[in-house]
Amino acid sequence: MAPTTPTGGRRRQASVPALVSAAREGDPRAVARLISLVEDESPLLREVTSALTPYVGNAQVVGVTGAPGVGKSTTTSALVTALRAAGSRVGVLAVDPSSPFSGGALLGDRIRMGEHAGDPGVYIRSMAARGHLGGLAWSTPQAVRVLDAAGCDVVVVETVGVGQSEVDIAAQADTTLVLLAPGMGDGIQAAKAGILEIGDVYVVNKADRDGADQVRRDLRGMLALAERADGAWQPPVLKTSAQQGDGVADVVAALAEHHAWLRATGELERRRVRRARAEVEAIAVTALRTRWGGLGGGTDTLEALAVRVATGRVDPYAAADELLAALAE
Ligand code: GDP
Repeated sequence: MAPTTPTGGRRRQASVPALVSAAREGDPRAVARLISLVEDESPLLREVTSALTPYVGNAQVVGVTGAPGVGKSTTTSALVTALRAAGSRVGVLAVDPSSPFSGGALLGDRIRMGEHAGDPGVYIRSMAARGHLGGLAWSTPQAVRVLDAAGCDVVVVETVGVGQSEVDIAAQADTTLVLLAPGMGDGIQAAKAGILEIGDVYVVNKADRDGADQVRRDLRGMLALAERADGAWQPPVLKTSAQQGDGVADVVAALAEHHAWLRATGELERRRVRRARAEVEAIAVTALRTRWGGLGGGTDTLEALAVRVATGRVDPYAAADELLAALAE
């Protein structure tokens, strides 16, 4: 039997407005279908985005990042439990910038977040960088928009897999949670990965293990060296044992406090404008690429120009002018 929407239509034929209203009423299949449209770079995406627009902007977007094995998925799951207990609706996007596959995603979801299966107040979804348009930088904000419009109060965007994705995720979140754990060479790692600049809340997980206090002290020391303007947010450095749920309530409180600070200072709007700017730019650049890829009846004008530049027949500025001129024709 074909899966059906609440309106009784076959899934494939459901109209965008019907899907959006079903998602807003909390139908998990409609939410899943909308995120699939994002992931598949569906031609319907434009219509989807437009239909969602009146309903977005309410969710707090929390990015969770840190080295593999520090406890991101354990922490995310514990955060979901705590947020649910407080009555919040929660969305989780587990994004894997290093993997072009999303085939294993569903199975992964069940293993990782099994305890939340069947809770109608939680949407959990994995996304991989399989598209060619702009990968996760492009698709993550669109998927966040779906979860936001579906009524999530908090959307957690968690990076899974290895990648130099920390900074990207930070750029897409209102609040960035950076996780560390003892025994992972954190001090050096923190400085190297540039996480000292991106964290709004730092959490030293696996506090049940030796060395957590040392990691916390080191991190506090490093953060104290950073110059911050008057009235700037001072990122707290908390401790958790996510596996046992210890300290998670403090993390939830810090997330709420940061959100309140973002709102009160206007920083929330500034961050969102910055994000929207990057998104609009990504869409425009993608459209441009598509267009110049199709110039000259299928010949790749850019490729031809690149050959001419590489062989010294034209300079790159003149080539770029030629490309732009061809687009204007
Ligand atoms: P991720 O790769 O960052 O998502 O990390 P996971 O959440 O998958 O956790 C990696 C490993 O650390 C798993 O075996 C977890 O069970 C374990 N782990 C997570 N949190 C804690 C904790 O608070 N204490 C201890 N001892 N182990 C933990």
